[in-house]
Amino acid sequence: NTPLHELDPAIAAALDAELERQQSTLEMIASENFAPVAVMEAQGSVATNKYAEGYPGRRYYGGCEHVDVAEQIAIDRVKELFGAEYANVQPHSGASANQAALFALAQPGDTILGLDLAHGGHLTHGMRLNFSGKQFKVVPYHVDTETGLVDMAEVERLAKEHRPKVIIAGWSAYPRKLDFAEFRRIADQVEAYLWVDMAHFAGLVAAGLHPNPVEHADVVTSTTHKTLGGPRGGIILAKKDFAKKLNSSVFPGFQGGPLEHVIAAKAVSFKVAASEDFKERQRRTVEGARILADRLTAADAREAGVNVLSGGTDVHLILVDLRESELDGQQAEDRLHEVGITVNRNAVPNDPRPPMVTSGLRIGTPALATRGFTAEDFAEVADVIAAALKPSYDADALKARVKALADKHPLYPGLNK
Ligand code: PLP
Repeated sequence: NTPLHELDPAIAAALDAELERQQSTLEMIASENFAPVAVMEAQGSVATNKYAEGYPGRRYYGGCEHVDVAEQIAIDRVKELFGAEYANVQPHSGASANQAALFALAQPGDTILGLDLAHGGHLTHGMRLNFSGKQFKVVPYHVDTETGLVDMAEVERLAKEHRPKVIIAGWSAYPRKLDFAEFRRIADQVEAYLWVDMAHFAGLVAAGLHPNPVEHADVVTSTTHKTLGGPRGGIILAKKDFAKKLNSSVFPGFQGGPLEHVIAAKAVSFKVAASEDFKERQRRTVEGARILADRLTAADAREAGVNVLSGGTDVHLILVDLRESELDGQQAEDRLHEVGITVNRNAVPNDPRPPMVTSGLRIGTPALATRGFTAEDFAEVADVIAAALKPSYDADALKARVKALADKHPLYPGLNK
């Protein structure tokens, strides 16, 4: 029972430094969040020791009576949260959930229709080097470069032309709501399955701030660690008819023993996500993104060559277009890092720069909303970002403003060793 700091000081030091980094900087990577201490407690629990291949009540190992309880609670809670007929809480990650979902709906060689990675899609929606791109015939759809919105006329045209087995609706970098009913209509016309990947916006759905794809899709996948604010992991929701296929695709199809400690933590996070506090937090998340979009579409930001794709946002993130700025995506990311704000560079549609450089930024508000940021705080953050993206900026003054915000909303007080 030697504590980590004694047993492995090198790893303890790295983790202490990571805690310090999270506390002292402003986390604005759109896919990140801060899990509650209770979630981390469950994730760090003795359930990590338990093998439990199979599903609650039907395991291939003895001694599963307690993890069965936790996994069944997780299943019941997430079904209730999203109004789903079926849930699988075992996928180790979003990518694992997507792999299991896709192979349950289609065979290698089948055609799939997904949003192009360079237009905001995810690797698992058909990227060339991903399993989805290697094993399936991928037809990508795009956003309209004028409006920044998914071109539904193109989706319909491509669906009719290629008759895909699966149409994928979902994104990693897109600031607007998708029209799931329209996707359903198109899928029905060509007898395709509709799979929605709500990894990014699941928290907004749970809070009732975003249309619920479960009402329209055959299968819905998600991560549990983005807006949903839980432990790192994945889930699959679906209509009852898909239960058998999906269960066997996850196990034994792609995974062995489920991570029962993470599943226990998922259950805790689903309880949190059903609370009024969570709804209020998601409201601040969306409000914060709107404040950011408004600030970065103001005249002085435009003069600095900063534009906001689609002109604003409906969700928890904004996409900044730097094609007219003297900064590229990498330089802008570095600048914000210098003043204590963490974001990621992101390609804009038809980006003239390579993927490692890009001409844009993706900026998200979930982590700061979890930290307690109010509209007033988000206005200050937005102002700091606008100032940092100008040709000349006062790094020390901006660092001080970032520090004041971080100090105002302490993160994980009491966790420092
Ligand atoms: N799906 C979408 C839409 C995502 O944005 C991501 C992660 O960025 C994933 C799936 C994959 O999740 P994970 O990183 O847990 O594999």
